Amino acid sequence: MTDHGTKASPSPRTGTNATPDTGGALPAETRVFSGMQPSGEAHLGNYLGALRQWVPLQDAHECFFCIVDQHAIVGEYEPDDLPARVFDLATSFLAVGLDPERSTIFVQSDVPEHAELAWLFNSVTPVGDLERMTQYKDKSARYESIPAGLLNYPILQAADILLYRADRVPVGEDQLQHLELSREIARKWNARFGGYFPEPKPILSQAGRILGLDGNAKMSKSLENTVRILAEPEEIWGRVRTAVTDPQRVRRDDPGRPEVCNVYTLHGHFTDPERLPDIAAQCRAGTRGCVDCKRILAESIGDHFAEVRERAREYREDPGLVRDILEAGARRARVEAQETMEAVRDRMGIRWRSRGEGG
Ligand code: SF4
Repeated sequence: MTDHGTKASPSPRTGTNATPDTGGALPAETRVFSGMQPSGEAHLGNYLGALRQWVPLQDAHECFFCIVDQHAIVGEYEPDDLPARVFDLATSFLAVGLDPERSTIFVQSDVPEHAELAWLFNSVTPVGDLERMTQYKDKSARYESIPAGLLNYPILQAADILLYRADRVPVGEDQLQHLELSREIARKWNARFGGYFPEPKPILSQAGRILGLDGNAKMSKSLENTVRILAEPEEIWGRVRTAVTDPQRVRRDDPGRPEVCNVYTLHGHFTDPERLPDIAAQCRAGTRGCVDCKRILAESIGDHFAEVRERAREYREDPGLVRDILEAGARRARVEAQETMEAVRDRMGIRWRSRGEGG
């Protein structure tokens, strides 16, 4: 692990280049952090936009995967449901192949230093920067009285990442602006208190934008336009059959345009690549109806997640194991978090006892 003992010297993790990459050729010592809100079991959007990419990162990098439950309390939520949502997402993490032997998998609220560092970062973050965030502008418009947490949300994200001095953060395009703010916070803090934090760079998701089954620009559980990755085949079909397709295909034999159809995009992620030319050709020729095309997709999704469902069943039958994994992850995370906070408190002068010791 990096030596941060010398106050004036910059952290070896400190960097300046924000060029996004896809994670394929990162230096071996790269430390990766990523978090996901606990909205329950993961769905196709979570999988395509994040989890599928996280799994191979474990092969070569030191990874911290965090269930960010303290982010989930911004906005409407049901407190009694939150623990189960955390547990269900943890089960999804493990079932898709996040490996507690190789990665640190934990829950944000088990490491109180996240909230502490976020508070300290408040001191270097301009309100104007927070107000410029696109997500803040979009979401705040829904409130009569805007919670401060909505504005400060990206500061907690910066704390999540920088607490572990992560070099890289897998993100979708919609999170690039927040990550740039994290980099800015690191820069400002380093300039004021001495170089310590790296400026984390993005690993851009290769999945592109994943539209909802209803054609909405975002696939999300709350919009009910997605499929749980642990859904049984019948449920998958129930969701996929509602998916919007090329609006030009009104009758079964109308020629279609796979390139504008979200079902075809999803085929690209889940269906055997050798079948794709036939699916596209039959669509264009109007020789296969959309219902049949969706059936193929539903089967492909079901097959793709068959092993994941099986592993999830095993974890559900042994909830104590999931709890143990999260607790072990939190212990590992706390070691790093405490090391960071000792350095941060020291540099920020939050160490009144040192006065009596000549500090
Ligand atoms: S046949 Fe398939 S790819 Fe073509 S429009 Fe229908 S669902 Fe989409």
